[in-house]
Amino acid sequence: MFIMGSIPVRVIFIKIGTCCFSAYYIDIVNYLIYIHVVKNTLMHAHTCICMYIVLLIHNTHNLINIYFSIEDDNFVNAVKKQKRKAEEAGTDLTDVIQGQYYQKMLPKHNGADMNLTLTLNTDSVSIFKSSKKGSLWPVYLAVNELPVKLRYSRKYLIPCFLHCHSEKPNMITYLSPLMKTLNSLNDKGITVQTDEGALLVKAQLLMASLDLPARAIVANMKQFNGKFGCSVCLDEGKSRPGQAMLRYFPFKELVQLRTHTSMVTDARKAALEGNEVHGIKGASPLMLLPYLDMPRSLVIDWMHCVLLGVTKAMMTLWFNSKNKDKTFFIGDKIELLDRRLLGIKIPDFFSRRQRTLHDHKHWKASEMREWLLHFSVPVLENLLAPEPYLHFILLVSGISTLVRDDLKKIDVDYAESCLIDFCKIYPKIYGDFTQTMNLHLVRHLPTYVRMYGPLYGYSCFGFESMNSFLKRMIHGTSHINKQVSFAICMT
Ligand SMILES: [Zn+2]
Repeated sequence: MFIMGSIPVRVIFIKIGTCCFSAYYIDIVNYLIYIHVVKNTLMHAHTCICMYIVLLIHNTHNLINIYFSIEDDNFVNAVKKQKRKAEEAGTDLTDVIQGQYYQKMLPKHNGADMNLTLTLNTDSVSIFKSSKKGSLWPVYLAVNELPVKLRYSRKYLIPCFLHCHSEKPNMITYLSPLMKTLNSLNDKGITVQTDEGALLVKAQLLMASLDLPARAIVANMKQFNGKFGCSVCLDEGKSRPGQAMLRYFPFKELVQLRTHTSMVTDARKAALEGNEVHGIKGASPLMLLPYLDMPRSLVIDWMHCVLLGVTKAMMTLWFNSKNKDKTFFIGDKIELLDRRLLGIKIPDFFSRRQRTLHDHKHWKASEMREWLLHFSVPVLENLLAPEPYLHFILLVSGISTLVRDDLKKIDVDYAESCLIDFCKIYPKIYGDFTQTMNLHLVRHLPTYVRMYGPLYGYSCFGFESMNSFLKRMIHGTSHINKQVSFAICMT
């Protein structure tokens, strides 16, 4: 037994059954003991650990709790500075904390000295060459009150759970302990010792930023290519003639939005009847948080939706020789396009140089981002036919507005009109069946920007960067859990 703050805790070393989840859970506990030991006995040996989570099995109640300690002045100061900045920004949308929904959700008189909100992420991370061996499913929490750079830094991004198995995790089993802890953090909070004295800190989960497959699993819904696959609205889509599995989502002027009540009702009905209702298969672990609004909390990640989704899909259509008789085909102009693209002299704050368009299928999300926001419009001018060119500019205009850090409400309205027109015209140029879920979600983006501020504040870029770090720390296929535990410990 050891003492954590004023709470006596016994960490129990037991292997519960033989399933991987249990085994990996115990390993996380091991790593956290390591952190605890390092922090308390070798303080100066590991000074970068300023904020840490402890997953502990309480010796009397057998509950898993998270205690995260904010003993770092930099953390406290960064949160205070960010909140001051938000007040000074007035009605401008510069980050999550200026969003309408944040302002509505944040408790004002709950007795806490500091209220924090969190963004959850989990995703499948391939670590084996063979997909049959499974993948890693880390769960992270990011603190929205930190500036974006710190929010997604390895120092302050909070790794909570790991799962590594040939099967995908059962999210109810996997995330329920975390939800229990989040409820406790919201109701009771934790007392943290800082240089300013003891602070009562309370926190609540504000949103989950996930790619489409992970979102379907966490929300316990049909996949994005299924009937009623959208978590925002009740658009059921259409199946292709003769290809029922391939669904597309024709543009509709009006869509009926899901509400939290409708999602819970559908989940109950689905659980009772054993069949999915409006795409919902049953309860989601997120429903364990009584304050959480499901459709509002499942935000759209622009990295997957816009960059790796719509932008990449359009480039594939433009360059595919099967489309050589179409007006938008420019596959025969790649050399010329490349000459323009690779001839652009870029400032040194760009992380990498552009690669040839021949490799566009292998471009990383950051390359797609620079292409969409900076290079595409001048490079494509007079080479892409006028109609698809002007249509593409609607996407560029809408998205480049929604990532601005001095966003005004009127800008969001402008971006929305661009994106709605973009979605409406899309099938006229590229055909009905190209209207994928990613394209459908583009119309919902402005709604989330109004609620949570510019797109970069809650994108998966930061989480993916942590995933890449974990992957780099893994060598060989044995004892993955220990390798990853060590990797997280070293962040
Ligand atoms: Zn929708």
